[in-house]
Amino acid sequence: MNELKHNWTKEEILNVYNKPLMELLYEAATVHRLNHDPNTVQVSTLLSIKTGGCSEDCGYCPQAARYHTNVEGNDLMSVSQVKAQALRAKASGSSRVCMGAAWRNVKDGEEFDAVLEMVRIINKLDMEVCCTLGMITENQAQRLAEAGLYAYNHNLDSSEEYYKEVISTRGYQDRLDTIDNVRKTNVTVCSGGIIGMGENIEDRAGMLVALSTLNPQPESTPINALVAVEGTPLEDEKPVSIWDMVRMVATTRIVMPETQVRLSAGRTQMSREGQTMCFFAGANSIFAGDKLLTTPNPDVNEDLKMFELLGLNPQKSFTKKAQPQTVEANDSEFKSLGEKPKWTRPDHKIDRNELAKKKAKLIK
Ligand code: SF4
Repeated sequence: MNELKHNWTKEEILNVYNKPLMELLYEAATVHRLNHDPNTVQVSTLLSIKTGGCSEDCGYCPQAARYHTNVEGNDLMSVSQVKAQALRAKASGSSRVCMGAAWRNVKDGEEFDAVLEMVRIINKLDMEVCCTLGMITENQAQRLAEAGLYAYNHNLDSSEEYYKEVISTRGYQDRLDTIDNVRKTNVTVCSGGIIGMGENIEDRAGMLVALSTLNPQPESTPINALVAVEGTPLEDEKPVSIWDMVRMVATTRIVMPETQVRLSAGRTQMSREGQTMCFFAGANSIFAGDKLLTTPNPDVNEDLKMFELLGLNPQKSFTKKAQPQTVEANDSEFKSLGEKPKWTRPDHKIDRNELAKKKAKLIK
């Protein structure tokens, strides 16, 4: 095992990222083998339990109501629908279900109570449950923990500096505060970001500084390659090169040795050979299922074939951490506080976001 380092600087991370590729791959693969079984990959299924109609302006996201995209909005799924989908995910080899809702932040009330019930039900199926619901308070995180939540996802997206070029409606510090609220519980933290949004390598390193200096480091880190969706402000961004993706995965592995590094959005743009390099460089988790919230993802059978070809095995649930206990709603120690937290709204102007909004108005 490596000793975990929590004081990575941007310069140190850039030095790792820019190493000659063979050296970078060798070092990343060595760190990977010291900390994980290199033939095991954790498989998660991402379920969009509430789609579209979001009030935020994230420049990469087709679910933002202000942009005109082909995403059809849906209200919150029912608990029984979610249970059926979770059973299907389990049957196809997923150890984790990640439920995503297109919300700015969690609001106490009927919908959150329904999500808590979904968490209880999936935990009782002996699957790891993750939620990505936007910003949450400590009390809300405690209630999710009691319900049996295994992980909470809240991505930092990019460096603090570049984040301001992508999103104007929520602040970086709010994101760090949400992660901090999750850390006050026994729920594990999943946090990562997106490359290919027009950021430079310094920004990629900056994001890894923000993630790796968290103590503890996130238990899982998704590395997404932007899927440029028509109608979003980032629709014209060029696809990320596989070399950038491999370098980013390898660097993440080296600076966060114990974290599960997840190949997330953008896998359809990668060849099998490209994905294989990412696994060699230390990626040890994927999202399965033909959709990632709203963007395409490889077919489950394609992934099974790839696993067979590479001799990879899906990771069993609760390999890294014991299954949380589910506390029923009636026995809950934490009741709704009806909080109205004041998450910030910087609201500076981002030209390409404004343009996409104007275009959408013209179309609508
Ligand atoms: S990323 Fe999340 S918060 Fe941002 S617009 Fe999309 S759904 Fe809303």
